[in-house]
Amino acid sequence: MRSLVLIGHGSHLNGESASAVYRYAEMIRARGLYDEVIEGYWKEEPSLRQVLKTTASTDVTVIPMFISEGYFTETVIPREMGLGHQGPVPPEGVARVLGGRTVRYTLPYGVHPSMSDVILARAHEALPDASPEDIALIVLGHGTTRNENSNKIVYQNAGVLRQSGKFAEVHALFLDEDPKVGTWPDVVKSPRVVVVPFFASEGWHTLETIPEDMGLEGAVTVFADNPHGTQTVYYAKPVGTHSAVADVILHLAEEAAGASGSDGDTERAHDAAWATFMDRARGGLRFGEVMVQPESGMFELRHALDEGRPGHELQTLVTPEGVRDQTRRDEGGHHRPVHTLRNMPRGWRAVLGEPDLIRAVQYLYPAVIEETYAHTCHTLRPTPWVTTARRQTGIYARVQKATPAQVEEVAADVCGGCLRTRLWAGDKLPQTFFGGVPGAIPCAEACTFLVAEVREEVAGKRGGGGG
Ligand code: SF4
Repeated sequence: MRSLVLIGHGSHLNGESASAVYRYAEMIRARGLYDEVIEGYWKEEPSLRQVLKTTASTDVTVIPMFISEGYFTETVIPREMGLGHQGPVPPEGVARVLGGRTVRYTLPYGVHPSMSDVILARAHEALPDASPEDIALIVLGHGTTRNENSNKIVYQNAGVLRQSGKFAEVHALFLDEDPKVGTWPDVVKSPRVVVVPFFASEGWHTLETIPEDMGLEGAVTVFADNPHGTQTVYYAKPVGTHSAVADVILHLAEEAAGASGSDGDTERAHDAAWATFMDRARGGLRFGEVMVQPESGMFELRHALDEGRPGHELQTLVTPEGVRDQTRRDEGGHHRPVHTLRNMPRGWRAVLGEPDLIRAVQYLYPAVIEETYAHTCHTLRPTPWVTTARRQTGIYARVQKATPAQVEEVAADVCGGCLRTRLWAGDKLPQTFFGGVPGAIPCAEACTFLVAEVREEVAGKRGGGGG
């Protein structure tokens, strides 16, 4: 049995931030090569602290869904996942045994050598009749930032594609460092130029900054008065959204497993948690804001406040992904980075078989079944606030300056709207939903949403959501 975990950044504010990771997880899941494909996030749930608990097997491969190496892949992810590693990740990755699971952590997908094929695929999409004689390729990177070291990989890919002889000339240009993208008319001589942004996703830079800096007006722009004569620029979509990235992820995962492959067992605590959940679900269970009822060999899941409403008044969902997408936003359309906040939208019901019910609940309440079951077994260990605060680095290091009164004030506000009980603050939870109290869910550790809010408080800027 094998688990593949894709780690994304996520966002406390933007509900679309996790979409790319969802999409790749779905594509890889559909290929059936892994027993499960799980997603985890820095700023959403399951969090980096929780995600390993949500894996069903003892053999776990973790892929950072980042375009380049840097602060997140070298510091934040290994630290938060407890990998006991900091700094550059070696080409063979990092392997650890954690709580009975063998965990392999790889380099981010963006530095894999096969990304040059993805660049090529994007270039051919933008300019299908490309012939080497008159085509220049620009691989366009962001440049090194506080969090990313992306120029190295852009130069490497440009070098590989130059060597391939598939283009008359290949250039590496950058948004934020020399050689800058705006200099392209001086350095590119060919009459046709294809530009491939080496970016993870479509966004402000790919949609606005790059076109502005290059003087582009759309997918194809003709420049009649350039120093090297008339030149036509073909602007490709970013590499990070190409479907071939799914192949890159699988290459990385298989390389991490080594030539002999890998195979784990069912993880016992995880198995016991879900067996307990299904046992309760067969008799009808309320947990958090939802209720599950057996129904003609299937299960019906709905918001508990919709109890008794006729099915035709509710939107019927039939897939775990449907449940995920229906509950990603509250009724006001706001993103829900913390799923246990009491703001789950009403008006839907899901009719699902057992495996899909489990996946739907994993989307609905990430890590809740595993953590609540561990709490009932007295194996869920709370992490006090000071330990969480001391671990923070970068822009979050400032939460170490928060006074206990500040933390309590912010927690009263943020956690006051959450179903979870703050074990990390010393609160007690004698019963859980397994014992018949639907809203009784443990919180073992301050979530990143709260950490971000405490940071805002310390900075005197509090009033909005986290970053
Ligand atoms: Fe909920 Fe507060 Fe725990 Fe975050 S820290 S999960 S808001 S109880």
